[in-house]
Amino acid sequence: MKAAVVPAVSSSWQIKDVPQPQPGPNQVLVKMHASGICYTDVHLTLGHFPGPFPRILGHEPVGEIVAVAPDVTTRKVGDRVKIAGEVKLYLQGTINI
Ligand SMILES: [Zn+2]
Repeated sequence: MKAAVVPAVSSSWQIKDVPQPQPGPNQVLVKMHASGICYTDVHLTLGHFPGPFPRILGHEPVGEIVAVAPDVTTRKVGDRVKIAGEVKLYLQGTINI
């Protein structure tokens, strides 16, 4: 899948192919149709938040659920979603929202 990636502190953003994650317990996988980029992404680029690099940017997505963990009962594949709220930032190049 394609992602907007910041490879290292203060480096340029790059569009890269990255491995597609699978949903863990109590998670869904969302195919992003669009995402906002805001000043939080600048803070992430500059290393103002803790956590490793590379980091995937864009934490304000809208999209469609394409996979659900077996224990998820309140959402299903095909649901359209907008993700907002608390953001857990960037664990080993993936984003969890
Ligand atoms: Zn934001």
